[in-house]
Amino acid sequence: MNRQTHHHVAIVGTGFAGLGMAIRLRQQGMTDFVVLERAGDVGGTWRDNSYPGCACDVPSHLYSFSFELNPSWSRSYSGQQEIWDYLRRCTDSYGVRPHIRFHHEVLDAAWDHEQRRWRVRTSRGDLTCDVLVTGTGALSDPAIPDIPGLDSFRGAVFHSARWDHDYDIRNQRVAVVGTGASAIQFVPQIQPAVTSLAIFQRTAPWILPRTDRDNSGLKRKLYRSAPALQKLARAGIYWSRELAVPGFAINPRLLKIAELMARAQLRRQVPDPVLRARLTPDYTIGCKRILLSNDYLPTLMKPNVDVVTAGVAEVGPDWVRAADGTRREVDAIIFGTGFHVTDMPVASRIRGRAGATLAQTWSDGAQAHRGTTVAGFPNLFILVGPNTGLGHSSMIYMIESQLAYTLDALRYLRRSGSTAVEVRPQAQAAYNDALQSRMDRTVWNAGGCVSWYLDTQGRNTTVWPTFTWRFRQATRTFRPQEYVVYERIDERAAA
Ligand SMILES: Cc1cc2nc3c(=O)[nH]c(=O)nc-3n(C[C@H](O)[C@H](O)[C@H](O)COP(=O)(O)OP(=O)(O)OC[C@H]3O[C@@H](n4cnc5c(N)ncnc54)[C@H](O)[C@@H]3O)c2cc1C
Repeated sequence: MNRQTHHHVAIVGTGFAGLGMAIRLRQQGMTDFVVLERAGDVGGTWRDNSYPGCACDVPSHLYSFSFELNPSWSRSYSGQQEIWDYLRRCTDSYGVRPHIRFHHEVLDAAWDHEQRRWRVRTSRGDLTCDVLVTGTGALSDPAIPDIPGLDSFRGAVFHSARWDHDYDIRNQRVAVVGTGASAIQFVPQIQPAVTSLAIFQRTAPWILPRTDRDNSGLKRKLYRSAPALQKLARAGIYWSRELAVPGFAINPRLLKIAELMARAQLRRQVPDPVLRARLTPDYTIGCKRILLSNDYLPTLMKPNVDVVTAGVAEVGPDWVRAADGTRREVDAIIFGTGFHVTDMPVASRIRGRAGATLAQTWSDGAQAHRGTTVAGFPNLFILVGPNTGLGHSSMIYMIESQLAYTLDALRYLRRSGSTAVEVRPQAQAAYNDALQSRMDRTVWNAGGCVSWYLDTQGRNTTVWPTFTWRFRQATRTFRPQEYVVYERIDERAAA
C-alpha cells in the first residue's frame, strides 16, 4: 500500500472469521472493504497448523460454513489440508481474494474520534477505515513456556502450530512438552519414526474414543444430489452436541457417562496399572477440553515412549531436565503448549477513543458486549471475542452469529446515516454480569482444574456458558438503544 487509502470496513485476518466476514459483505453487495492478513495465504488455524495428524475434532459437516456446505468431506473429522483447501475455495468462489492484502500485519489501530475513523498502521503502510473488524483468532499466536536454559538448546525447537517440515525427525530423540489437543494428534504420527519420545505431561487429559469414519462415495453422491439431507445430518450433529451443554454448564455430574467411557478406554488401552495411574486425570471431565483419540494412549505403551509427569524444569544444550531431577538427552523439543488465549496479542495494538489499548482496558479481565463490541472502542467488532469460545461444538456457529450481528450494525449505520456506534458501559456491564453469574456452576469454573479458559485472575473470559443457540439469539439483531450513536462529525453524540 503506497499511499494511504480509506475503506468503509477493514477486516483483520483470513481464518474462518475474517473470510466469513468478507464473504458476507460481498453477499450484501458491499465492495468497499479490505482484508489485512499478516501471512502469505488465507486459512488461519488451518494454514498454520500443519503438524502430522492435524484434523478438526468437531465433525466437518458441522465445522464448516452454513452457507457453503461441502458434500465432499472425505471423512467425519477432516484433516488440515482438506479444511485449508475448503477455505481457499471459499475465498475464490465468493470473490474475496482481490480484497486481501497479504503480508500486511496490523501493528497498530487507533480510533480518531475527531474524524470518526480508525487509523490503521500495517507492516506495509497505513490506511483508514470507518469500521474495524478483527478476526485475528483466539488460537493464533503460539505460547512457548519460559523455561530456564531453553536458549542454550542446540537442537531443533518448534511449536506444533509452526511445524518445522525441514527438520527430519527420523531416528531422533524427541521431547514433546504438553499433552493437549495438538500433541495427542501428532504424537502417534511421529512415534514410529523417532528413536525415543519423552512426553512431558503437566496434567493428564480426559480422552474419549474418536468415531472417525470415511465418508463413502455413495454418501457424498447423496449429499451432492440432495443438499437437504446434508442439512439434516448437520442439524443432527448440532443438536447432539447441544445435548452435552447441561453437563458442561449446569451440572457437571451429568458428564459422568462421558467419564465412564473415558475410563473404560483408558483401562482397555493401558493395561499397565502404574502408567494408567499417571494417565488418569484428577479433575472433573470437561474442565479442560475433552480430547478425542483412538491411538494416543496405545502409543504411550510403545517401548520408545516415556511419559514424564514431573514437568520441565530446565533445558541444557542437549538435554531436558524434569522437575523430579531426571534428565533426558534429546535432539529436538516440540512444544504442544497451546496459544496466547486470554492475553490475545492484538489487544495491545488497538487503541480506543481515550487512547488506552484494549489490553489496558481489559487489565482486570477481557469482556465485550455480546462477545463483539467494547465500550470506549467505537465501530470495533471483535470476532471470536471474549466468552465466545466453545468446549463442545463448532466455532463456526459462533462466528456466523457474530457476522450476523456485525452486518446488522453496519446496516443500522447506513440506514440511520450515523458515523459510529459505541456500546454503552451499562449495557456491556449488564450483559457480562448476567454471563458471569452463570459461570460458577459450570465445569470450567467448578471442575477443579487450571485451564486456558481462565485468565490469570481465575476468571473465565473465554467460554460461552450455555447453549449456543442462546448466543445466536443474543446476536440476532443489533439493538441501537444499547449504544451511543455518533452522528456526523460536527454533531454531538446522541446520548
Ligand atoms: C489445531 C486446531 C484444531 C482446531 N479444531 C477445531 C475444531 O475441530 N472445532 C472448532 O470449533 N474449533 C477448532 N479450533 C479452533 C479454531 O481456531 C477455530 O475454529 C477457527 O478456525 C478460528 O478462526 P479465526 O478466523 O477466528 O482465527 P484463525 O483461524 O486463527 O485466523 C486468524 C488470522 O488472523 C491473522 N492475524 C493475526 N494477527 C494479525 C495481525 N496483527 N495482522 C494481520 N493478520 C493477523 C492470522 O495470520 C490468521 O490468518 C482448532 C484450533 C486449532 C489450533
